[in-house]
Amino acid sequence: MLQKPFVVANWKMNHGVKHSVEAAADIVVGLKQIPFTGGVVVCPVDTALMAVQTIVEESPVALGAQDVSWEDTGSFTGEIAPWMLREVGVDYVIVGHSERRKYLNETDEMVNKKTKNALEEGITPIVCVGESFEQRQEGEQEHVVMRQVQKALDGISLGPAHSILFAYEPIWAIGTGQAIDAEEANHMHSVINQILIDHFPDQVVKENTTILYGGSADEKNTPGFLEKQHINGFLVGTASIKSQQFVEVIKAVHNAT
Ligand code: PEP
Repeated sequence: MLQKPFVVANWKMNHGVKHSVEAAADIVVGLKQIPFTGGVVVCPVDTALMAVQTIVEESPVALGAQDVSWEDTGSFTGEIAPWMLREVGVDYVIVGHSERRKYLNETDEMVNKKTKNALEEGITPIVCVGESFEQRQEGEQEHVVMRQVQKALDGISLGPAHSILFAYEPIWAIGTGQAIDAEEANHMHSVINQILIDHFPDQVVKENTTILYGGSADEKNTPGFLEKQHINGFLVGTASIKSQQFVEVIKAVHNAT
């Protein structure tokens, strides 16, 4: 796994331009008090990307988008190609978030095509995987997540300059305030890690991949997750909306690593 921990803010459809800029500025200022050497990424809505980039460009905070097209140009109304995201300074993109899988019918095949297209443009995908409550009740979580990861990786190899992040996000833990037990999360991360080991050379797994946890992660529970072997950062929704709380999450991660 990539050595440094990541903390990624997924602002979803919560902040417009004004609030995204304010939140980004707060995080940049907050980070000055924390000698955190891991990665910090903020993912605003597309309309705020350019404005947020002007805030974070001289800082350790990187810019992420919440989605990307698998196409590069042409008649795809409403879509944004990876090179267009690059144009405004995007380095990371969330792919296959469960909300997109659920509300927009994103399939594993689409996730795979988006992941490939992002990588070709040098954007690091943050690929979200995770089981539903019903799937967990049926004991299908490993099977579901294995299939999602394998399909996302279909046909993908990583050059030395490319990285891929996975975010294990049990759907039933997202936005509920009820995070999964750290030991169980670690188990699911180990399942994902094994697929990475099967798919990529050892060196690539070590240096170019990492696995984040997402699902009601906050400043209180993140240290417990980080004690586990296969958990190396967080995709944060609710606890990233208020910038001060997100800074607290970064602080907690810093203190725990
Ligand atoms: C998410 O939706 O990616 C997420 C992790 O949300 P929350 O932190 O609110 O569970």
